[in-house]
Amino acid sequence: MRIGVLAIQGDFAEHIAMLKRLGVDTAEVRLPAHLAGLDGLIIPGGESTTIGKLSVDFGLLEPLREFGKSHAIWGTCAGAIFLSKEARRSQPLLAIMDITVERNAFGRQVDSFEADLDIAALNRASQPPAPYHAVFIRAPIIESVLGDAEVLCTLPDGRIVAAQQGKLLATSFHPELTRDTRFHEYFLSLAK
Ligand code: GLN
Repeated sequence: MRIGVLAIQGDFAEHIAMLKRLGVDTAEVRLPAHLAGLDGLIIPGGESTTIGKLSVDFGLLEPLREFGKSHAIWGTCAGAIFLSKEARRSQPLLAIMDITVERNAFGRQVDSFEADLDIAALNRASQPPAPYHAVFIRAPIIESVLGDAEVLCTLPDGRIVAAQQGKLLATSFHPELTRDTRFHEYFLSLAK
């Protein structure tokens, strides 16, 4: 199994470190040719506007959309925004996931927070079930989940922070910034 991480901006190094801890082969993706031979791709957190613009400059938009038709892609935070159909701003999006998002929905950088979440999809894979400690940094909310996309997890107040559509995964939070490998393991199960 070989998993790529889009490495043009954001915290790609943390995702690569997590994948290495899990014994997975990794590749940094900066150009369309780097997608060859990958079983899945992670799009990290960072700044979705920058990731979008650089993806246009590097000719990555169409190759990434094509890759997502048959492979697993997981976007964390800015990556989730990049996967969405609609972010209510003018910025390049892959628009391959049937979700709409609201950027910076919790406020500014100082309003970043951490929360323990109950994620059924992770609890099914690990026994005994344990809460998932999620880190939100100037995070988006997933406003709506449409079509074939499904809600994976909400905050206690019902706001959606993780969604899945087949092999596509979007999280508002940053599993790569914790010691908990369960979300990465869940993604690997989709990439198989
Ligand atoms: N606020 C960023 C954006 O809108 C996302 C922040 C993050 O990835 N931690 O793109």
